[in-house]
Amino acid sequence: MSAQELPQRAKIVIIGGGVGGASVAYHLAQLGERDVLLLDRSDLTSGSTFHSAGLVGQLRADPTLTKMNMHSVDLYRKLEMTETPASWRECGSIKIASTKERMAEIRRQIGWSKTFGLDLREIGVKEIADLFPLINTEGIIGGCYMATDGQVDPSQLTHALASGARRGGVKIFTNTRVLQIKAKNNQINSILTDKGEIECEIVVNCGGMFAAEIGRMLGVRIPIIPMSHQYLITENFLPDNSPMLPSLRDPDNLIYFRQEVKGLLMGGYERNSKAWQTSHDSFDDIPADFNAKLLNPDWDRFENIAINAANRVPIMGEIGVKNFINGPEGFTPDNEFCLGETSVGGFYVAAGFCAHGIAGAGGIGKVVAEWIVAGEPTMDLWHMDIKRFASAYESPKFTLERVTENYEAYYDIHYPGEERESARGENMSPIYNWHKANHAVFGEKAAWERVNYYHDQATSNLDESNRPNGWVGKNWHPAVALEHFAARNTAGLFDESSFAKIEVSGLNSAQFLNSICANNVVRGIGRTIYTQALNSRGGIESDYTVTQVADDKFFIVTGTAFLNHDMGWLEKMCRQLGYNEIKIRDLSRDLACFGIWGPNARKILSKLTDSDLSNEAFTFMSSKILKIAGIEVRATRITYVGELGWELYISRADALQVWSELISAGEEFGLRPCGYRAIESLRLEKGYRAWAGEINSETNPYEAGLGFAVSLKKENFVGREALLLANENLTRKLTALTLENIKDVPMGNEPILINNRVIGRVKSAGQGYTINKAIAYAYLPVENTKIGTKVDIEMFGIIKSATVQQEPLYDPEAIKTKS
Ligand SMILES: Cc1cc2nc3c(=O)[nH]c(=O)nc-3n(C[C@H](O)[C@H](O)[C@H](O)COP(=O)(O)OP(=O)(O)OC[C@H]3O[C@@H](n4cnc5c(N)ncnc54)[C@H](O)[C@@H]3O)c2cc1C
Repeated sequence: MSAQELPQRAKIVIIGGGVGGASVAYHLAQLGERDVLLLDRSDLTSGSTFHSAGLVGQLRADPTLTKMNMHSVDLYRKLEMTETPASWRECGSIKIASTKERMAEIRRQIGWSKTFGLDLREIGVKEIADLFPLINTEGIIGGCYMATDGQVDPSQLTHALASGARRGGVKIFTNTRVLQIKAKNNQINSILTDKGEIECEIVVNCGGMFAAEIGRMLGVRIPIIPMSHQYLITENFLPDNSPMLPSLRDPDNLIYFRQEVKGLLMGGYERNSKAWQTSHDSFDDIPADFNAKLLNPDWDRFENIAINAANRVPIMGEIGVKNFINGPEGFTPDNEFCLGETSVGGFYVAAGFCAHGIAGAGGIGKVVAEWIVAGEPTMDLWHMDIKRFASAYESPKFTLERVTENYEAYYDIHYPGEERESARGENMSPIYNWHKANHAVFGEKAAWERVNYYHDQATSNLDESNRPNGWVGKNWHPAVALEHFAARNTAGLFDESSFAKIEVSGLNSAQFLNSICANNVVRGIGRTIYTQALNSRGGIESDYTVTQVADDKFFIVTGTAFLNHDMGWLEKMCRQLGYNEIKIRDLSRDLACFGIWGPNARKILSKLTDSDLSNEAFTFMSSKILKIAGIEVRATRITYVGELGWELYISRADALQVWSELISAGEEFGLRPCGYRAIESLRLEKGYRAWAGEINSETNPYEAGLGFAVSLKKENFVGREALLLANENLTRKLTALTLENIKDVPMGNEPILINNRVIGRVKSAGQGYTINKAIAYAYLPVENTKIGTKVDIEMFGIIKSATVQQEPLYDPEAIKTKS
């Protein structure tokens, strides 16, 4: 359509005509959007799409992604029936295991695939050989087979989607390069192309590996690095009448195969990966003329992959190579897509598909189009949301470190509690050095170094008796139980300085917050309120505490990883509801936060302050400025572990002194420094919810057991109507389950069954050291939530019995917290 004149106005402009842009356009058209333009600087598919290997697998480690890939398959099947078919071939796929651990992973996947109705089944060595006769079965233990996986021609798929989009009214302009994107009052206003300017409301950056460059046009960081990814295609050798081979993945050998005409396509994820670095100091500047091009073959780096392939499929060592592809593809720091609205209103991104963009494209197009039309995600997309990336990823070098580690670990088995080694040490608590000197073992969250637990190597006789069975036990540590019991029996001191802390101030800030929070958060200066902010469907977008600190000033505290997400939601709501005078400030790095919790917390704190800390003078869920050891701190009487105590907010400069004073004062009361692993166990026992754990944008407060934090006395707040409706038809409830053996700890996503019928999947799980049981939470149909109901949890193919319990599992009368 390049001959046609470029319009001067459009509601939505999509930048990029790869499979991503075409799918977003297709789905926008399906949703009835008629005023949509798609622009590409070259031809359709001239980025990564044209050189893709085209394998389409559905099962992923993330439930949302699995649902999205299932939509892709449905769509590709349907497109086959149109006048522009996508060349979809439903050849099935096999994954093989050459190690016991891989076989365990396969059994676990088979378990949770049941919760999606996916027909993934275990197969033995003989069936693997029957399905893929070219294979050398030596060393194979077993595998799994999914009949509905397949392969597609990426270019034909893109053209099929583009044709569908055109039929729905989308206008496509190729050879049209976007040069600038402009915003007014932080809201998209127009774009400038080499063919003219277009006024628009929404821009969707579907630039694949070019997405970072496109983001820079507006000063928005998109943390994507182009990585070189290679595969080869053999000469044709399969007999004409041979049945089509299924795709084959051999992750232990880092390789994948699929049939290509009458030959094989084989690729893999090398241990010595390589970013496509375009200059000595740039990781994402792509030459302006890099259209429909490839990188030079890098045989040396491919050698190990080729050797592994010839071992597994011996004919690979004999047959000639017809084509060798080295193509760049955009990777993100965690191998998940980068989707959603950025910090600029109306500027969306759908990029960074990490070499599974063909499998994902159908689903990606659907969820992004829905997000644009609804103005909010229509399912839980947190793992793919651009707002999950901390500001540390503004550095391309930092991004590259993590991208490299994750690329090379693409096929690795990942165990619970695993920590990344690269891109560490970016954000530190002001008392990091104290932790280090006191034997802290650190973990990383959103580029913050945080204490997981403390362990002095010289300590002996640690109690190993609670080490969980199987994978959960691998990164488990006995010190966590000791810390758990310190908080329950004496006192624990936790450094939570990484918490995201946001100040909302200005005229009408009270009115604004009450219009977006489900709870009444305006109950006077010094009151702290636990609340959720809901989307229009009544789903939980944010989960935090709000403290009123002045007439027109509020202090919000939320999880470490949710700063950009929660702040972004506040800013978006401000724009949407027209509260233009309100200021939203990030205080996360200005203030340290320490939690002191346990029966002795009051005694310890009283030693350091003249303020009255009695139950009457300092009530639960209130907040005051105190002097602790002569230093001004904000003390909030709240708990995330279910014990008496306070969170103390202190300026960074004074943090070490306050911490040291607390440690000294606590010595006689058995105070112990504790880490985040203990918090997890303590909060699970107490039933405190975690966003992105048990609650998310797809769950509403009533089904999550958070009805107590909804104030229906307020006549209006975002999501109220939908919430009321949902409450009338509540079909499922977040339910606490316990397993008798504390060592039988689920990992998450396991199917929950009654009489062999799947009724749900595990949301979160852990150990409850005080109740001496393993704990799991799951959304179950209301009729299955009667206390005492027995259910089965399938873990690694083995059934374990669990019991529905009354919540909370610990201190149901809240005597400890309110004492
Ligand atoms: C070797 C290789 C093998 C792969 N194998 C598989 C596989 O088996 N299965 C699978 O699922 N995935 C696979 N992938 C991944 C998949 O190909 C990609 O994820 C997908 O093609 C990316 O699509 P995209 O639309 O995001 O980006 P692209 O296809 O790169 O499209 C981006 C478009 O944006 C345009 N553009 C950029 N800047 C501008 C501008 N300023 N103005 C206008 N237009 C602009 C470009 O011209 C380009 O056409 C593979 C990738 C590679 C490299």
